[in-house]
Amino acid sequence: MLEIVFSFLCRKTDMAWRDLKFALSLLSVRSFLRTAVFCMSLFCLSDGGLVWAQGLTKTEKTAPPLFEFTFTDDQKREQTIEAAQILQAQDGGVVMLTRDGRLLTATPAQLKSKRSLDREFTPLDASELEKQLKAEFGDDFTVTQTKHFTICSQAGKRYTQWCGYLFERLYMVLHNYWDDKAHPLHDPEVPLIAVIFKDRANFEQYASQILGDGASATHGFYSIQSNRMVLYDLTAAPNERPAYTDADILFKLRKSPFNVATVIHECTHQIAFNVGLHTRFADNPLWLTEGMATYFETPDLKSKTGWRTVGKPNPWRLRQFQDYARSRRTADSLQTLISSDQRFQNAESLLDTYAEAWAFSYFLIKTKRRLYEEYLHLIGSRQPLIWSTPAERLKDFQSVFGEDLNQLDQQFLRYMRQISR
Ligand SMILES: [Zn+2]
Repeated sequence: MLEIVFSFLCRKTDMAWRDLKFALSLLSVRSFLRTAVFCMSLFCLSDGGLVWAQGLTKTEKTAPPLFEFTFTDDQKREQTIEAAQILQAQDGGVVMLTRDGRLLTATPAQLKSKRSLDREFTPLDASELEKQLKAEFGDDFTVTQTKHFTICSQAGKRYTQWCGYLFERLYMVLHNYWDDKAHPLHDPEVPLIAVIFKDRANFEQYASQILGDGASATHGFYSIQSNRMVLYDLTAAPNERPAYTDADILFKLRKSPFNVATVIHECTHQIAFNVGLHTRFADNPLWLTEGMATYFETPDLKSKTGWRTVGKPNPWRLRQFQDYARSRRTADSLQTLISSDQRFQNAESLLDTYAEAWAFSYFLIKTKRRLYEEYLHLIGSRQPLIWSTPAERLKDFQSVFGEDLNQLDQQFLRYMRQISR
């Protein structure tokens, strides 16, 4: 699985958080949004609305007001939407959060009007969402609701249902794994939408509009911009009959466990970004968010849902990490991993970087869970739109795990050698 990632460093400013006119021009925010479509990418967004977006249930904040925006999109079509405004840039451009959870932008030239609707932002309800998704994807898609997810699927009923079990199973386990009294998780505040295409060809056609050439190398993605997972029926192959039963699905999926891992990986991102483990609009170190997704991604195709266990070593990430540690790993590897996202931008070393993000997260969760959680919440509570420098990232990390990175690195390598045996 190749995930292409971006990171954009915005410098910390001395500006008060509550200053609604943010110093960035909308142009820089737009560049984030345009590219923030892959599994893990980041962008700058802000204002009071974000405080709400991070945890209404936790902080008892009221929802932001709802507006009706009319603007011309990049294809020069006029759109009128209901949305919360989560950022007004200094040049007058806006970033909007739609009621289905997408982030849209309009420059001052594109924005035609903005009208208060005198009510609070609420997410679309199930029937509004179904109508909207059908209009967007067409009548050959069915829209089904599970407890936490909305699945817009072109795949067969059985496969769609199986995905629903898998997502819900993952949701429950993740929730139980991380929820605690000191840091309770919250319910998603916008819909968790999964779009499932009936086969790889349809998926690729859609994904290439968003990912460009990257689509051919991926089996699914989660977009921070749209908050959607986009997947396809992994059991569908040309000239093959569809899977009729769960056993049949599992039989077919055993041929592609790595692809199943992608589904779990992307779903983990979606859940983590919506229940309060990560903040969708803040500076999340990629090693942390990717480490979280890879920690959970190992499929278990003996179970009906295709996923059961948590916290077992991830066999292919482990193999990759062992090989990396043996032959290519430099003495400052931990420091470069923690202090910036740069290594995630290098296609050649991407698998090594993912493997190290997994291994390091695995080590921290298994041996220093309390500190790991403290760090997770420190990052999760960061103010949106404030991007850290590498030195600041390192300082944040050391404020929780201690100053001595060398000693930590030795412990880490020792631990990984021991679990390898
Ligand atoms: Zn990822």
